[in-house]
Amino acid sequence: MAHHEVIILGSGPAGLTAAVYAARANLNPLVAHGPLPGGQLTMTTHVENFPGFSEGILGPDLMEAMRKQAERFGTVTKQALASKLDLSKRPFKVWLAEEEYTCDVLIIATGASAKMLGLEKEKELMGWGLSTCATCDGAFFRDVEVAVVGGGDSACEEALFLTRFASKVHMIVRRDEFRASRIMAQRALDNPKIQVHWNRLPIELLGTQKEGLKGVILENTQSKETETLNCEAVFYGIGHTPNSSLFQGLLDMDENGYLITVPGGTATKIPGVFACGDVQDHVWRQAVTAAGSGCMAAIEAERWLAEHE
Ligand code: NDP
Repeated sequence: MAHHEVIILGSGPAGLTAAVYAARANLNPLVAHGPLPGGQLTMTTHVENFPGFSEGILGPDLMEAMRKQAERFGTVTKQALASKLDLSKRPFKVWLAEEEYTCDVLIIATGASAKMLGLEKEKELMGWGLSTCATCDGAFFRDVEVAVVGGGDSACEEALFLTRFASKVHMIVRRDEFRASRIMAQRALDNPKIQVHWNRLPIELLGTQKEGLKGVILENTQSKETETLNCEAVFYGIGHTPNSSLFQGLLDMDENGYLITVPGGTATKIPGVFACGDVQDHVWRQAVTAAGSGCMAAIEAERWLAEHE
């Protein structure tokens, strides 16, 4: 049974930044990650809003650089999902796959996953016209038509943001009304660049990696008739799911499953357990804010250990 002073669950920007700080503080961190090392950014192509890369950087390259940086200071990375936890006393017990590990501090950086529709070409076109983040990818689609799927606050916000670049933004809403707050819905309805397609559900994405996304086939949820909407990009704005099911019953979470941390910090209700990044942030959800909160978690962990050892 291996012991690490700090075990970090998750290898996105939050987890790896926490690892850089924890490793440089000689805390011998182990980063455990699942089948998508690097997290959501590895599903994108160009990242142009992460400070320090004036020409932009590919998402997978950015995460690879972060992993190498963490490993340079002694971080151990392990591909294995945490399957069970015992946080009732210290050292905490963490089962990675079937193997038992112990740690003095646990940093949770398991992130969130954008909800997907489950259409056939999603994997192929993700980053090639299909996106789950308008803030990240909107600027690549100037003076062309794009579409946003969803009718909640996120979808309206994304559609409004995209009007800065696109010639026209199509909103695809599965019912005949928005779920969004009145004010956001009204802003979307009032914007001359936004056209809402009510009672429509995307059933097929068109295009290839080579030519990019070319459009989407929509089904009318009432008449079941189908139609093709030509556009160069589709943004999913149908919500996110925090990866927090492992912590159910152990840590406090809000009604959507986001872990609750102390305001302005990363401490959870269990002393020695910290949470950072998208698993506890449904507001900002950016790589740079996740990295920032990973840094906070590691510094808080270091201070907490110094006080308690
Ligand atoms: P929501 O769950 O509020 O909305 C999801 C939207 O996507 C709904 O319109 C839903 O349709 C639609 N949808 C869900 N699944 C599918 C599917 N399979 N196919 C087609 N459409 C689908 O998620 P949001 O991310 O918009 O918001 C999450 C929370 O964050 C909310 O509390 C929101 O208020 C908040 N938020 C606030 C913002 C702000 O105030 N500026 C900005 C962004 C988020 P249906 O309505 O039919 O279920």
